[in-house]
Amino acid sequence: MSFSGLKAFQECEAEAVAVMNGEWDRQATFSPSTIEAMNAGSYVHKSFENEQALDEFKQKHQGDMFTKTGNLKSQFQIAEKMVLTLKKDPLFQNIYKGAKELEVFGEINGIEFHGFLDCLNLEKNIFIDIKTIRGSIYEKEWSESEHRKMHWIESRKYLWQMAIYQELLRQSDDERVGKNIQPVIYAITKETFPDSAGITIPQDWLDDALIEVQEATNKYIEVLNGRVPVHCGRCNYCKANKYNTHTISLTELL
Ligand SMILES: [Zn+2]
Repeated sequence: MSFSGLKAFQECEAEAVAVMNGEWDRQATFSPSTIEAMNAGSYVHKSFENEQALDEFKQKHQGDMFTKTGNLKSQFQIAEKMVLTLKKDPLFQNIYKGAKELEVFGEINGIEFHGFLDCLNLEKNIFIDIKTIRGSIYEKEWSESEHRKMHWIESRKYLWQMAIYQELLRQSDDERVGKNIQPVIYAITKETFPDSAGITIPQDWLDDALIEVQEATNKYIEVLNGRVPVHCGRCNYCKANKYNTHTISLTELL
């Protein structure tokens, strides 16, 4: 299991199970602009991994990065600006050091988990995750499950991700890895004037997030043990597999 797998399972059990069984290709449902934005996000990450990783990315995505006339596509122009912003951000330059793209493994609630750390800085006892975001670093988004607006770090379940990675690092048998490594979310925005910030999270929020992760894995275990996965009714998978048999009241849509 991974953070993104668990998040997908929490959003729609039926879709996540169909993806795991190879019956549904979620990537194929993404719009070209979404894919371009995802690739531009990867470009920002690769720019700070190492030169070889960046070169490999450029070679692989040459067709995606440039227009027919040979200019950088708009999302990649923005990505370039984001990279420049981080290159002149003194805090980022000071802390984004150490092992890059490091895979970590462990077990949560009896389920094997793995994750990728963008950067593990053992000198400062932190790990860093770069998040490229469309809005401002203050942006709040509507959360369907919570029925309220939440900060994007909360609504996108990044607290889960940081709690999972912290727990996997806690389980590391590498003696150089401390037992209470703190996450830093390094946000970089796609605004006309890109903003950047290194964001820490109170430990008790991470502790609560890890409890939520354990609760979510309990539901996953139920499905592994034979419970029928719940359809959210709203995602592309559910819409593609919907067979109406009766009318619904407007009150159910409010
Ligand atoms: Zn669904």
